[in-house]
Amino acid sequence: MRERRLPDVQRLFPSENGNQQSRQMMMRFFEQILTGVDGLKNPDDVNLRGEKDRTDRFYNNLIQQSAIPSESMPMEEVNSELLALLHNHPYHTKYFLTNILPMASIPGIVGMLAAFMVNGNNLWDVYGPAGAEAEVKVISMMSKLIGYDAMKSGGYTTWGGQGAVFSGLRIAIAKFAPEALLKGVPDNLYAFCSDAAHYSLFKSVEATGIGTDKLIRVRTKADSSMDVNDLKLKMEEVIALGGIPVYIVATTGTTDAMGIDDLEMIQATAGKVAAQFGLLRPHIHADSALGGFFAFFQDYDFTANPLEFKTEVLQAIQAIHSRMKHLDLADSLCFDFQKLGQTPYLTSLFLVKEAADLTLMDLHPDETPYVGHRGYGQYHTGYTLECSRMASSISIYSALLAFGIQGYQQLLAQFVEVNLAFREALRLEIPEAVIVNADNPGIITLFRLYPEGGSRFEEEVSGACSLSEIDRNNKFNEILFEILGKQRERIFFGDTKKHLLVPTKEGSFTALYATKIFVISPYTEVKHVPEIVQYLKTFVSQVFEKYAEASTISGR
Ligand SMILES: *Cc1c(COP(=O)(O)O)cnc(C)c1O
Repeated sequence: MRERRLPDVQRLFPSENGNQQSRQMMMRFFEQILTGVDGLKNPDDVNLRGEKDRTDRFYNNLIQQSAIPSESMPMEEVNSELLALLHNHPYHTKYFLTNILPMASIPGIVGMLAAFMVNGNNLWDVYGPAGAEAEVKVISMMSKLIGYDAMKSGGYTTWGGQGAVFSGLRIAIAKFAPEALLKGVPDNLYAFCSDAAHYSLFKSVEATGIGTDKLIRVRTKADSSMDVNDLKLKMEEVIALGGIPVYIVATTGTTDAMGIDDLEMIQATAGKVAAQFGLLRPHIHADSALGGFFAFFQDYDFTANPLEFKTEVLQAIQAIHSRMKHLDLADSLCFDFQKLGQTPYLTSLFLVKEAADLTLMDLHPDETPYVGHRGYGQYHTGYTLECSRMASSISIYSALLAFGIQGYQQLLAQFVEVNLAFREALRLEIPEAVIVNADNPGIITLFRLYPEGGSRFEEEVSGACSLSEIDRNNKFNEILFEILGKQRERIFFGDTKKHLLVPTKEGSFTALYATKIFVISPYTEVKHVPEIVQYLKTFVSQVFEKYAEASTISGR
């Protein structure tokens, strides 16, 4: 009888005893991936090299062809398959300008690797002591940075900026309606955010059972920040009808335009309105997922300017920072490290000013298990929506150490400087591209074209345009979206169909479309700006030509 050869599955695991052979094998596999990716890199394009035929049948074909192999495939071949996935993948070269989609830094990746080597479960410190230790450290580090009392604050790593908005809402519900945990949410709880806020709150009111009808959208000003007078009016309206405002999301750095809500005014106003009606002040969550990283300038000496930033860069950072410095007034907030923290997905940090708030949504109210406020073995994150949790805090920790405050300052200042260079080059080279977030310095530029050339932006913002005119202007911009989209393997720009909700002449509201330049690659430098703007210029001309052709044909 032939001897049956059983697969040696142990060789698929890191060694038990630290032997060199196993380590070297693993290093070879890593090396194969790193070398393979390097072989695909092309700094003159956005996408990695390689073939992908992503036609209409693409996913269908995958479904038909995919099956688990019956026999073990050698790792070298598995690696080839993995590398094939990366073919033609967008990559963060200097031409990657589309959105908040950053590169993962080396310290971020190495931090993940360290976490994976022990694969602890961050649910409980006994199962994942490394993750718990790193989590307590990074919560303390970030708390001190923004001015929370680290001995009182708390938090945890979670599923994105959206998860943080959701967690804040859970706390808000538990604060205002503790019985809701047993009986379900009452039908008079209301949440507020601005028109420019991320849709995270919309999802959260839906998922918590509050209902999206009870999400009140507050008007924004032309700089995309919340109109606090409107917040006051809307809170009063809600209360007059028997509602209770429980949650306000203040966006400190909108994802499209980098608008920054005024936390100081929001807190004061919300407090005043609530007090007037004998209510608790609503829980305020600063959605600082993206913009919060400008807190790295909290202690920067803007006068001595030790990192020698150019005057206009310094002024821009100061302008952002002056609107960001009250982050500590928020009851909770978020740092999406996979955004400007330079770590891989998913490394979001949810912070609460009062760690005791976490007990409100804990499984076991008789314990006091919140971060950093208890002994080893009691660190059980029963208050998170997740059960098992990855130790993404280790990657965050790694990045915070490797970059340091100055490293982050340097990188953010570079993004700001490149963004300023884009704005200047646009104004000089493509004057018909009207910058529509000029009030917000930062790392994003939004611009808009008008069929007649010139600018109608002021009129659009002030409500002097009809809906049909704005629609027509939007469609005109959409032509550019499409042209740039077709060439996005060369230079990858972004766009948005939701920049500013503006009033129309008829009294309705409608959103503006804009093309987006998002400075996010560490490889985009000021010296690359002229070439990129010249490239853009040819396509902007094409939009006007196409439009003129279409108008002649339709006899407009
Ligand atoms: C990105 C972003 C979110 C969502 O974060 P995820 O990590 O994608 O869940 C929420 N709010 C703001 C302001 C953001 O920029």
